[in-house]
Amino acid sequence: MTNDKPKIMNYINGELVVPNSKKYLNNFEPATGNVYSLTPDSNEIDVKNAINAAEKAFKDWSKLSIEKRSEYLQLISKKLLEKLDFLSDIESIDNGKPLKLAKSVDIPRAGKNFDFFASAIKHFYSESNEMVDQNNLNITLKQPLGVVGAISPWNLPLYLFTWKIAPALAVGNTVVAKPSEITPMSAFELSKICIEVGLPKGVLNIVHGRGNIVGENIVSDDSVKAITFTGGTMTGKRIAQIAAPKFKKLSLELGGKNPNIIFDDCDFDKMLKTTIKSSFANQGQICLCGSRIYIHENIYEKFKLKFIEEVSKLKIGDPKLEKNDLGAIVSKEHLDKIKSYIELAKNEGGKILFGGESPNLKGRCENGYFMKPTIIEGLSINCRTNQEEIFGPVVTIQKFSTEQEALELANGTNYGLSATLWTKDISRVHRMVKDIQAGVVWVNTWMVRDLRTPFGGMKDSGIGREGGFNILEFFTEKKNISISY
Ligand code: NDP
Repeated sequence: MTNDKPKIMNYINGELVVPNSKKYLNNFEPATGNVYSLTPDSNEIDVKNAINAAEKAFKDWSKLSIEKRSEYLQLISKKLLEKLDFLSDIESIDNGKPLKLAKSVDIPRAGKNFDFFASAIKHFYSESNEMVDQNNLNITLKQPLGVVGAISPWNLPLYLFTWKIAPALAVGNTVVAKPSEITPMSAFELSKICIEVGLPKGVLNIVHGRGNIVGENIVSDDSVKAITFTGGTMTGKRIAQIAAPKFKKLSLELGGKNPNIIFDDCDFDKMLKTTIKSSFANQGQICLCGSRIYIHENIYEKFKLKFIEEVSKLKIGDPKLEKNDLGAIVSKEHLDKIKSYIELAKNEGGKILFGGESPNLKGRCENGYFMKPTIIEGLSINCRTNQEEIFGPVVTIQKFSTEQEALELANGTNYGLSATLWTKDISRVHRMVKDIQAGVVWVNTWMVRDLRTPFGGMKDSGIGREGGFNILEFFTEKKNISISY
């Protein structure tokens, strides 16, 4: 029995509380395969309590001055950064990601999310339009919606959780948020920080538990006016089915199957280094990872050789150790899913050029969920391996000969989240970026994010754009007032 493990608590109405059911879910450390803490198995009563608290808090929070709201967000940002080492540690334990990645990307970005929206809100303005010939002035107010729901995935736990919460709070909404049940720990720590900085009670509520219970109860409650969701496309569909008939605002950031297009005139060394990151960072569990690599035929063999050579140097193992480049896969279920895709790829005629199996680790991590970086060749665009999101350290490589062919391959799936293009030909860049079906296109780089820019996907990768003023617009309702004078 695992009842002796530390228990995570919900954060409702400004307090840390146990779930109504008094039941808990096991929370595993992916690097060891051991249960190391317990997550509240919350139910509809916990969600309702959180929504009631958020509704009550809305009146005062939405009337607070922008400066005061901004100050609270700044305080949270500061605390997150003060606790960089501690939070990086728990994020790495909870998710399996290399500690150095949590320390350099996840936690700094979580702090930056609060800092960015604390500042952005000060520059978010209402509009007015005068009709001088009719002595009329239109004032367009942007008012907060009320209670909003935020649901986030496990791959970048605190990074994505705060990316949703910070802008929602900044414009004056109150929030009921649910982190992934697989990675609840950093959200629990965020609750404690909110208490430490004295965030008014009920402004942010965090309910832990299962998606089909906690998540669906947040989505279906009539008092919740908007949902921001990041996660898988199937879950996004389910959320849309529930929310659409209720006319809720929806921002859905969903899955991807991102192409990485490499022309023979690119800066080869920079491309190779970056492609290793874009393929395998966070064990390939970043929605923006490029999982389909298309290489111009002139450099295909050279790329293949060098890519395998460099990938074989990547170190995989205990996420705590600085020397390791790849940590653990987030869960046993997810590791099994990735392995089933490797089998599928073989059955579809794919040749495993590297990886394709778990490494043989000894000691602390021998029962952890690890997977070697995997490179597959010889698959067509139409096979399931190239159509479905695997979300692990698995890439396929394929050659192309013309720009048109590259474009058809890149656009040949139902997804449209991001794409990467490697070429020095500026005319080609302009020709291609217009036709690539993706919400984010990186040219000669990857994962560079300016928080002012719109972020989101096309096709089955979602609807709406987050980032900058886009998300502040999403979290507000425009009201036009026409005044005759
Ligand atoms: P899921 O869709 O399984 O879960 C995401 C969140 O939704 C979790 O908190 C989950 O809870 C919750 N949830 C599950 N079912 C429901 C439901 N019926 N109603 C409401 N909420 C529900 O995604 P994963 O956590 O597995 O994350 C991986 C996916 O996220 C990948 O597809 C990846 O591409 C995508 N992603 C997209 C990004 C983007 O910006 N477009 C960025 C990062 C990831 P629980 O954990 O309890 O199941």
